[in-house]
Amino acid sequence: MLQLTNLTHVYPNGTKALDGVNLEIPKGMFGLLGPNGAGKSSLMRCIATLQTPSSGSIQFGDIDVVKQPEKLRATLGYLPQDFGVYPRVSAYELLDHLAVLKGIANAGERKDTVETLLAQVNLWGVRKKAVAGYSGGMRQRFGVAQALIGNPTLVIVDEPTAGLDPEERNRFNNLLAEIGENVVVILSTHIVEDVADLCPRMAIINNGKIVQTGAPLELSREL
Ligand code: ADP
Ligand code: ADP
Repeated sequence: MLQLTNLTHVYPNGTKALDGVNLEIPKGMFGLLGPNGAGKSSLMRCIATLQTPSSGSIQFGDIDVVKQPEKLRATLGYLPQDFGVYPRVSAYELLDHLAVLKGIANAGERKDTVETLLAQVNLWGVRKKAVAGYSGGMRQRFGVAQALIGNPTLVIVDEPTAGLDPEERNRFNNLLAEIGENVVVILSTHIVEDVADLCPRMAIINNGKIVQTGAPLELSREL
C-alpha cells in the first residue's frame, strides 16, 4: 500500500501545486482524476522520486520514499505523459538496452524478459521495427513494456490514453487491467471513463487538494 501524508509541493515560482494531500492507495488499479492544472503530474512526479515534495511524507510498504528514493526506484515502473523515443531503434533493442540499465546482466534472462514483455503488450510482430514509426497506441503499449522491466510493484501511468482512438484506448486499458491484478497501479487522467471502466478505487484532485475519494460509482454524482 502507498500512503501519502500531508504532502505539499510549492514550485520555485511560488505555485502551490500540492496542498496537504492525504491519500491511501491499495493494491490494484487506482484512479487519480482531475482537470488540467489540478496537480496530477506534480503528485506523480513526487511519488516517482523525480521531485522532492516541499513537505509531507510518502510511504510505500516499508520504504520511506522521500528518504530512500533509490529503494523506491528499484521497484517502480513509470510511464510519463510524454516520453521520447529514439529514432530508428527497434522496440527489441530499446527494451534490451533498458533491461541492461535495470541491472539484468544475464543475456538469457534478458532475452526472456524482453520477449515476454513484447508479447504481453502485443508488439511481438513489430519488435524489429523502429519505435519512431509506431502509431500512438503502439507507442503507449511500448511505454508500458518499458515501465514493466524488472517486475515493479508500483506502476505509475500519467495521462496514458490522451490522443488514442477508441479501439487503441480499449486495448491499452485491457493491458492496464491485466497489470493491475498484481501490483499497485496509479492511473492519472482527466478522462472520467478511463477511471470508471478500470479502477475500483479513485480520488478526485483539484487545486492541489484531494476533494473526494471512494469507488467511481459512489462518486458518480460528483463527476
Ligand atoms: P496536472 O497534471 O493535473 O495538469 P500539474 O501538476 O502539471 O497538474 O500542475 C499543477 C500546477 O502546478 C499548475 O498550476 C501548473 O501550472 C503548476 N506547475 C506545474 N509544473 C510546474 C513547474 N515546473 N513550475 C511551476 N509551476 C508548475
Ligand atoms: P495489431 O496488433 O492488431 O497488429 P497494432 O496497433 O499493433 O495492431 O499495429 C497496427 C498495424 O501497424 C499492424 O498491422 C502493424 O503490423 C502495423 N505496423 C507494423 N510495423 C509498423 C511500424 N514500424 N510502424 C507502424 N506500424 C506498423
